[in-house]
Amino acid sequence: EQYAADAVEAPDDADPSGDAGYQPVVAVVGRPNVGKSTLVNRILGRREAVVEDVPGVTRDRVAYDAQWAGRAFTLLDTGGWDPEAKGMAARITAQAEVGVAAADVVMFVVDSTVGATDTDEAVAKLLRRSGKPVILVANKVDGPSGEPDAAALWNLALGEPFPVSALHGRGSGDLLDTVVAALPTAPPESFDDADGGPRRVALVGKPNVGKSSLLNKLAGEDRVVVDAVAGTTVDPIDELIELGGWPWRFVDTAGIRRRVNEASGAEYFASLRTAAALERAEVAVVLVDANEPLAEQDLRILSMVVDAGRALVVAYNKWDLLDEERREQLEREIDRQLVRVTWAPRVNVSARTGWHVDRLVKALDTALEGWSQRIPTSRLNAFLGQLVAAHPHPVRGGKQPRIMFATQADTRPPRFVLFTTGFLEASYRRFVERRLREEFGFEGTPMEISMKVRE
Ligand code: GDP
Ligand code: GDP
Repeated sequence: EQYAADAVEAPDDADPSGDAGYQPVVAVVGRPNVGKSTLVNRILGRREAVVEDVPGVTRDRVAYDAQWAGRAFTLLDTGGWDPEAKGMAARITAQAEVGVAAADVVMFVVDSTVGATDTDEAVAKLLRRSGKPVILVANKVDGPSGEPDAAALWNLALGEPFPVSALHGRGSGDLLDTVVAALPTAPPESFDDADGGPRRVALVGKPNVGKSSLLNKLAGEDRVVVDAVAGTTVDPIDELIELGGWPWRFVDTAGIRRRVNEASGAEYFASLRTAAALERAEVAVVLVDANEPLAEQDLRILSMVVDAGRALVVAYNKWDLLDEERREQLEREIDRQLVRVTWAPRVNVSARTGWHVDRLVKALDTALEGWSQRIPTSRLNAFLGQLVAAHPHPVRGGKQPRIMFATQADTRPPRFVLFTTGFLEASYRRFVERRLREEFGFEGTPMEISMKVRE
């Protein structure tokens, strides 16, 4: 009995940020090779393969959950493309812009052994204009003899340079203290409106699937409101679009409307934009071209939504071009490849003709509802009690792990904590998830199930 009471009050692995809908974002920007990924690894406290020895290799992940001194934040790694690519300086500024747009705090990394370059100056200028808190990281100060190089970076006019060695860890604790101190304590204003204000939607998908066409169709000829979010020229532009009688906030639509023109690295850049938009959204519409086989990039974008814990609607566009043969192919593809997101509402649309775009609203509502749904502890335990009795975990090594108690620790997205006697195998956890969905719905939302094993 005591066990259960404690569990409700303090599940240890509940999200420390409380409201899962918002977590402050820290973007790491800077030229290639200044040590951004090394710094990200240092902050994450692990040596995961974020550092790429091969230039031009795109990194799949750009957003990471980080923690320092009890504060949780999202770390946005904006590195990861080919330093030899053409239009380098423009691209670095554009990358910094995305970082700034998404971030509450920017870490600007400069290689102190090289000093401030023209590109660094250009980025610094952009950062000063942004009005966002900027922490100037003077990296590669591996020992005291490097301190004067760091001090020379005062001339970037971004305040005090923090001498660090991302590689060896020197100064990184002080740096993180400063980062955490700069984090906002309350969500930014656009997040205050989760109850009552416009819901925030990210419209994402690989290039040419029809994002800007759909946005134009939804906004209509006479746009209801065009809302340039107050502040600065580099802030993302959200558009308020009325659908089904309510205004919806489509976040970071500037990313859709203004194309960044580049050959190599385009895909990486697109995924950075996607990550940034997802950070600010509650629900994502992932747009897919129904006439093309599902690509790696489509699947990666879907995974990004799931990993970001956002509600999800999958929209198949260009339905006007579809023939019977392709339609059958598509159904098979979906069965095979979208197993990870079978719970996502699906809409078939044509952004060109406007066919069925009105159905998006219902799908968005459904997904947001699932995302916010909370199951009372008593109901949850009554259900799981029956489930476990009817379908016990297989006996392993003479023992049978059992679910003693469960609680939904969080919503947006739903997170469940199972208190167990022994480790539940992955297949059994998937089974529990499937049955939870069958019983309670949770349509359109990823779901997290964690375990606390009683020793
Ligand atoms: P990014 O392109 O900005 O992400 O840079 P990386 O993190 O990939 O680092 C580029 C190179 O600089 C790598 O060879 C790192 O090992 C090296 N490096 C990064 N941080 C430091 C540091 O603090 N000191 C030294 N000496 N080298 C570093
Ligand atoms: P984005 O890169 O995702 O923003 O894609 P765009 O909106 O620029 O669309 C790419 C191309 O697909 C353009 O030529 C559009 O006219 C075309 N397109 C977009 N939606 C549809 C659609 O529903 N049907 C057809 N036939 N073409 C479409």
